[in-house]
Amino acid sequence: MALFINEECVLCTACEPECPNGAISRGKDIYVIDPNLCTECVGFYDQPQCLKVCPVSCISVLAEAKTQGGFYQKFMRLMS
Ligand code: SF4
Ligand code: SF4
Repeated sequence: MALFINEECVLCTACEPECPNGAISRGKDIYVIDPNLCTECVGFYDQPQCLKVCPVSCISVLAEAKTQGGFYQKFMRLMS
């Protein structure tokens, strides 16, 4: 489905420019990921870039994550 940022976010801003889909933005208290835009980086990178750069490991995959095929379909839709 998408990745999720929890309340341990320290607002370092590192993740925002790394997202190829523009899915990350500053929310009211912490940074947030738009689940309609996040593809877990499928189609761009072999691993989620936000997870890779977050210094406090406050980003995780939502439990109901879809298959890579599902993300590829979302990637194609976002690119069209
Ligand atoms: S996993 Fe990739 S697409 Fe999803 S929010 Fe993180 S950087 Fe953006
Ligand atoms: S990299 Fe992690 S701590 Fe920094 S803004 Fe993003 S989610 Fe928050």
